[in-house]
Amino acid sequence: MTLSHPSIYRDRIATIQQGLPPAVKLIAVTKQVPVAAMRVAYAAGVRDFGESRIQEAEAKQAELQDLPDITWHLIGRLQSNKAQKALELFQWIHSVDCLKLAQRLDRLAEPLLVKPQVCLQVKLLPDPNKTGWTVDELWSDLPQLDLYHNLKIQGLMTIPPLGLSESDTLTVFQQTQELAEKIRQQSWANIQMAQLSMGMSNDYRLAVQAGATMIRLGTILFGERGI
Ligand SMILES: *Cc1c(COP(=O)(O)O)cnc(C)c1O
Repeated sequence: MTLSHPSIYRDRIATIQQGLPPAVKLIAVTKQVPVAAMRVAYAAGVRDFGESRIQEAEAKQAELQDLPDITWHLIGRLQSNKAQKALELFQWIHSVDCLKLAQRLDRLAEPLLVKPQVCLQVKLLPDPNKTGWTVDELWSDLPQLDLYHNLKIQGLMTIPPLGLSESDTLTVFQQTQELAEKIRQQSWANIQMAQLSMGMSNDYRLAVQAGATMIRLGTILFGERGI
């Protein structure tokens, strides 16, 4: 991508923030976005950055060490052999997508003395391109997830399948919200369900309408990514 004038990023961020309920956190998704643009977003008030690749995040964190109050969110698929690195780099992991990964993160977090905040990634509709729990799988795994006391399970994350109509997309977000609500009504030792990480550039308004608390925006802030 080419870098636009800083004021363009500032204006976009301000416009989006103004349209959001105050409780909704904007996460600036900066995969393939140069650190210069991230600095402009930071200057415009963004403190939450989302990355999908470990290596890219590590390099950027090294370059942005002078900005100490950034919260780093991992939003992309996490392979279990990178779990340790992910715990070192990210305060939030939105893409915890199976019991095995959750267990591994919990175990690795102990010696690192970290308590990562995580979202459980769910699939409300079948989607061959996405990982994550189906609703039934999640219910059956929740008792085990509740035992992972090093993880701060904060809520659910979802990405609707590509190509859904607006109304079907809204339904996916509403069903995710209802699922979180049902989980919240049970009593758990560790599991919290206050966060809903859902909504990207093309569907975040629908997600906010359905109760999203964290939206993950890339393209609408920084422009199209290269291929
Ligand atoms: C890339 C990505 C985003 C941002 O997508 P945009 O359409 O560019 O806003 C959000 N969430 C996840 C998981 C992503 O991989």
